[in-house]
This record gives sequence, C-alpha cells and structure tokens, in this order.
Amino acid sequence: MIEIAVAKGDGIGPEIMEAVLDIFKAAEAPLQYEFVEMGKWVFDKGFGNGMTPEAKTTIEKLGILFKGPMETPKGKGVKSINVTARKTWNTYANKRTFQTLHGVNTVFSKAGIPIDVTVVRENIEDTYGGIEHQLTEDVAISRRLITRPGSEQVIRYAFEIARQKKARRITCVHKANIMKITDGMFLNAFRRIAGEYPEIAADDIIVDDLCMKMVTRPETFDVVVLTNLQGDIVSDLCAGLVGGLGFAPSANIGDNICIFEAVHGTAPDIAGKNIANPTALLLSGIAMLQHLGLTATAAKIENALLYTLEQGIHTGDFGDKIIPALNTTDFAARIIANFGKQPNAGARTAAADQPVKIEVPVLKENQLIHSSEPATKTLAGVDFFIDSTLQPAAIADIAQKYSTDSLPLINLSNRGTQVWPGGSKFTVLVDSYTIRFEAPEGKTITQQTIIDLYTKLAGEFQITSVETLLELNGQKVYSLAQGQ
Ligand code: NAD
Repeated sequence: MIEIAVAKGDGIGPEIMEAVLDIFKAAEAPLQYEFVEMGKWVFDKGFGNGMTPEAKTTIEKLGILFKGPMETPKGKGVKSINVTARKTWNTYANKRTFQTLHGVNTVFSKAGIPIDVTVVRENIEDTYGGIEHQLTEDVAISRRLITRPGSEQVIRYAFEIARQKKARRITCVHKANIMKITDGMFLNAFRRIAGEYPEIAADDIIVDDLCMKMVTRPETFDVVVLTNLQGDIVSDLCAGLVGGLGFAPSANIGDNICIFEAVHGTAPDIAGKNIANPTALLLSGIAMLQHLGLTATAAKIENALLYTLEQGIHTGDFGDKIIPALNTTDFAARIIANFGKQPNAGARTAAADQPVKIEVPVLKENQLIHSSEPATKTLAGVDFFIDSTLQPAAIADIAQKYSTDSLPLINLSNRGTQVWPGGSKFTVLVDSYTIRFEAPEGKTITQQTIIDLYTKLAGEFQITSVETLLELNGQKVYSLAQGQ
C-alpha cells in the first residue's frame, strides 16, 4: 500500500473526488489515504495559508498530495491556496498532457487530426511570485522573477519527459524578443540543456506564434516548455483543443513533494448538484498512479474511461445532447462497469504494477539552489523611480544638478520610453518616471554612491523605487529604455 494525502477541496471538489476514489477502490489501486484539511473552509477557520498544521505535516511526510480544486477567498488580500501549495513545496514543473479523446468531439477530432501535446510549465516563478506594488496614483508594477536554477530545473524535467515519451520534438516557448533578460535567461537555459539531449530535436518559438500554430497545426507539437504565465494561458488553450477544462489533468512535480489535481476550479455554479465531470481529476489520478509505478492499474482505469467516452457516455458539460447526460456518480459507475474493456483507439498497455517507494527526506534547513558558475558582479549605475507630473525637461533640469563625471545622468523614461534627452511630444506620459544614472564605460560605482545620490534626489522628488544596474562578467544585464 502506498500512503498518499488527499484533500477533497471546495465546490465540486468533494463530489468529483468521491467519484474518483470509488473508481480507484473498484480497480483495487493499492493506495491508502490520509485525508487532510485544506481549502477555503480551512482558511475561514483562521488558517491564513488555507491548510491546518496537521495537513502540512502529513503532506511533508507522505510526499504525494491528490487534491480537489480549492477556492481562493476574494477581496481579502490572501494568496491562492493552490499557488501557495505549489510554491511552498517547490513543485517547480507543472505537467499537463493533452490528447485526443475519442468520444469527445472537437473540430480536430472531427477532422481526424490527432493531438498529443505535453505542456511543461514552470510553476513557481514569473509573475506568480505575486510581488506587486503600486508606485503612484496611476502606476502599479509587478515583478517578473525568472531564475537560472529555477529555469534549469523545469527545463531539465521537460527534457526527461521528452526522453520518456520518445518525443519527436521539444519546443521552448518564450517572448525573449521583448523580455530579453528574463525570457532570455529561460531560453539560454533551454539551449544549454538541449546539448545534454542530442537525440531530441530541440527548437524554440515566440509565444504568440505558438498560439497561432497550436490552433492551426496542433499535431506538429509534442513537448513544449514555457514560463509560468505564458504556460498558464497556453495550457488552457491546449485544453480547448481536446475538449475543454473537463479533460485537463495536471501534475505539479517537485523533487520531494508532488501534487496531482485537475486544471479546472471549484465550479461554484454547479457545486452540490452531483453533475460535475470527474474526468479531469480522474486523468490527474491516472497520472499519479503512473508516477507511483502503478502502471497496470492506471492502464486498466484509463482504458475503461476511454471505452466509456467512445460509447458516447457523458456528463452534462460535453457530448452528444441526444444521449442523456449522466450525473457524476453514474458516470463513475459506468467507468467501473467497463473495467477490462478495450477502447478502439488509444488503448493503453502496461506491465504489472511496480510500486515506487516514496521517501521524503527530513530536511534540517532550506535548500539553496545557486548557479554553478559564479560571475564577476559590478555596479554600473542606478534607476530611480519617481512620482512626478512635471514635464521631462523640468525633471531633467533638477536631476542634472546631481549628475557627476563618475555617475552622469543618462536619461529619463516614462512607461519604458525615453522622453529625455530627445523624445517625442506625442509620447503620452503618466505620473511615474525613471531617472537613470550610469557610470561611464569601464567605470564602476559603490552602494555608497547610490545612497548619497538617493539622499540628494529625495530632497527633490518622491522616490518610489530604486533599481541598481548590474554588470555580470562585463555584460550589462539591464534593459535599455525604448529609444535609448
Ligand atoms: P472553474 O474552472 O471553476 O469554472 C469555469 C466553468 O467551467 C464553470 O462554468 C464551471 O461550471 C465549468 N466547470 C469547471 N469544472 C467543471 C467540471 N469538472 N465539470 C463540469 N463543468 C466544469 O473556474 P472559475 O469559475 O474561474 O473559478 C472558480 C473558483 O475555483 C475560484 O475560486 C478559483 O480561484 C478556483 N480555482 C481553483 C483551481 C485549483 O484548485 N487548482 C484552479 C482554477 C480555479
């Protein structure tokens, strides 16, 4: 028996979880469940991260969490329970598999175009750090955090999946033409790691181009790997290609703890009615069984599911309207009744179960993942963000007073566009400027230089944020303003 933690979730969570656990029971899956308290109702009881301390201890002991969807309380400034869980336990890769399911009609299935795409999405970083600040009345910023070791972890996982899947192709999706430093870091990590897997064809594509090609030629993609927010959007797009969120499973993979859940949410509009579609949670459960080495049990359940779908059996959210829809419980019962049946298309075969022993280490301190190649770091300048509604020339006149030979004023930008020196009167301004001071080529400054300048500028402007300009191994690693 493999022990796993189970959280039923909110909304339709308990209904679909019950249906899936019934199917597991009937399939004699060698699993033992520890039910843990997580979700909105736990948050309402006063646990700020949406889980009880006992739930946290159990999950950190067992290493596997099978969860239903959970609601994020609105308007209380709290972070999503789901995102917190993924980040706390460093489940750095989100894997979603999208395959044509016979019996689930889509434009592609009707046209005979097979889809089999695995999306590996970075799961912790990017704008999901949720690091946001409002700088002025009119301007808010979000920090988009991309790290080299974080990128390497998820990309290496994607290559391993591609190898296991015997993929034809692995594609890195990005927007490095615009986000040269953040997505550039992700793309460079991909190119470096691609060298370790010479047998897999590795290429890259800009995310907007991918979206267009994914809806016109989805069959040309195999494994795609991308950053968090772009991955979130692209994976929902892929869900649409194979029949919608009701068929989208997801595995959150970390080195020590993994979370398996459906992509969809708590569906509050249909909660408590026993009409939700349990397929996405069941597919997530099948992915979990495979992860645990229970491949034969997974194949038995998946074949019964595919057979059931091929028969046209459906819940209310999909399928042929002429055939009456089944409720959640009856849909699950039909899958159980179809154990042992083989679908016409996509039948799974698997050797006997070989249960994996999940061993979660007892950690004494936090792991710190750090780049293996230390760089020479030098301070090259500073950007001051200020709150001002003055015209650019008036701000420049004031800032010029503090410009020195060792740290001259370089430019002013507004919404990332250079507005001084030069600029256009047609550039529309908002109440937040960035003033850049940058040391001459080859010269560097100290933190004290920045502090001294800060003190002087603070006498003139409301400074809302400060960003240092860094050179790594002599390379500028900061963006230029549009037009600089
Ligand atoms: P949702 O996915 O819950 O619902 C969107 C639509 O899809 C609704 O019409 C719903 O009825 C339908 N739907 C979803 N799952 C279904 C299923 N299994 N069977 C039949 N129909 C289904 O998205 P939402 O309404 O934007 O979010 C509701 C709540 O869920 C929010 O609190 C959100 O934060 C949360 N959420 C949680 C997760 C998670 O736990 N991983 C993911 C997404 C959203």
